[in-house]
Amino acid sequence: MKEINMSVGLNQKLQEAKNINLSESQERLEKMYIDGQWISADTGQTFEVCNPATGELVAKVADGSGIETKQAIDAAHLAFKEWAVTSAKERGKILKKAQQIMQERADEIAKLVVLENGKPFKEAKGEVNFALDYFDWFAEEARRAYGTLVPSPFPHKRLWVQSQPLGVVAAITPWNFPAAMIVRKIAPALAAGCTVVLKPAEQTPLTALAIAKVCHDAGVPPGVLNVVLGSNPIPISEEMLNNPKVKKIGFTGSTEVGKLLMAKAAQSLKRVSFELGGNAPFIVFEDADLEAAVDGAIAIKYLRVGGQSCICANRIYVQEAIAEEFIAAFVAKAKKLKIGSGFEPGVDLGPLINETARNKVHQLVEDAVARGGEIALGASYLTKGDYASGSFYAPTVLLKVEDLWPICQEEVFGPVAPILTFQTEEEVVARANHTNYGLASYLYTRDLGRVVRVSEALEYGLIGVNDAAGYTHEIPFGGFKESGLGREGGAKGLEDYLEVKSVVVNLAQ
Ligand code: NAP
Repeated sequence: MKEINMSVGLNQKLQEAKNINLSESQERLEKMYIDGQWISADTGQTFEVCNPATGELVAKVADGSGIETKQAIDAAHLAFKEWAVTSAKERGKILKKAQQIMQERADEIAKLVVLENGKPFKEAKGEVNFALDYFDWFAEEARRAYGTLVPSPFPHKRLWVQSQPLGVVAAITPWNFPAAMIVRKIAPALAAGCTVVLKPAEQTPLTALAIAKVCHDAGVPPGVLNVVLGSNPIPISEEMLNNPKVKKIGFTGSTEVGKLLMAKAAQSLKRVSFELGGNAPFIVFEDADLEAAVDGAIAIKYLRVGGQSCICANRIYVQEAIAEEFIAAFVAKAKKLKIGSGFEPGVDLGPLINETARNKVHQLVEDAVARGGEIALGASYLTKGDYASGSFYAPTVLLKVEDLWPICQEEVFGPVAPILTFQTEEEVVARANHTNYGLASYLYTRDLGRVVRVSEALEYGLIGVNDAAGYTHEIPFGGFKESGLGREGGAKGLEDYLEVKSVVVNLAQ
């Protein structure tokens, strides 16, 4: 990829980046990364990665399957012997180097994110910066995988508990955060001393390969990180699930696929960590700072991959006394959002990932309208002019919807905001919890007592109080109920890649 002249203006740089990437990548065949080597598929087959904003071909990618997955697992298994006994300090140094290199390449990687995922460049850059800080966090956490000396009940025995890396970890990731979801898994795994076989989403393999290259250049030894690519996830995941060398499946994706993987992982009792779907309630109480609540709702509804995020607000509940005012302000702001290619300056929302995603979103909207829902904004495909070849959908606001309709019960995964009203705190908590999901939730209020009561009562892994920015590296992230198992990030993020061993030493022997 050509270097971009940093002295030119941003618009020009983005335009150049777009042209360079498109014209070069059409010639390019992207290969898998196994045992430190870049390899084609055994069959020679490839699949295509297309830009969701334009439909244009971005790259052809090696189309791997079970054979390459087995090779990668073998390489990871072999590499584990050395990597597991490399000191935590040394592993941390390599991860810090990865952070530094990824920072240097942040623009380049963000462009890949825009090309294959469609999100605006500014947002993509934010994601890349957020992702690379997981290398930093876990580089430091690696040195704190402390054991415990336990007071013994016997004078002649000593007891201690220590942690050891699990072994080979198979990681499967989605397309909506092609950089962050990967680094949030590989950084703790590598920090803990595990080795990894990663399968990124079919739509976004280029970001995964760029991250593999970062790790390679940072000195991650061959076999410690491997990336298998494929258009069909089944043979790859089957090998991961059936191969006894794999000790853990780390999956981020839909609840539906998570359940399939868990059932199969049960056959060999592999460890699992799941980050799954969400259905976040966003609750605005009448004493809230209304402007802050509107801004927060707009940000967490529309400005995270255009609503295609697991922690996006899926249902917005507004207390009746302020509903009219909130809705007017929310619709006015939503109307001003700029939709377009992620390379266009000032764009707030890109396209949805593909036509299937757009159709699913529209079906949910149509269903709500057929049941009596009212359209306050949008509810349509954007197909004219610059939108003609991409899967764009208008920012949408729906009113007079009901809790049990699919638009409120399913994960919408698009720029659709159903707004509902409520009367009491007790009522809204019950309604907010009435879902099988339990990932993120938000509440806006100035009442401290209410903050405590409601945040304790909400059955969600993340509670944003007067805050819709998501989470940070320092705290664990994960879901209640069908939104997941285990936690990523924070100190817990490392624990999920460690096995606990108790040692009993009999001094009398
Ligand atoms: P998905 O369809 O479940 O796919 C996720 C990954 O699983 C992809 O790599 C996919 O491969 C693979 N996959 C799909 N079907 C599979 C199968 N039968 N066996 C094995 N692997 C399979 O989800 P998605 O549409 O990419 O992502 C959106 C979902 O992820 C949403 O539900 C969102 O809430 C969730 N998500 C959760 C978090 C979190 O932290 N909790 C974060 C981001 C996203 P292919 O791409 O090849 O199909």
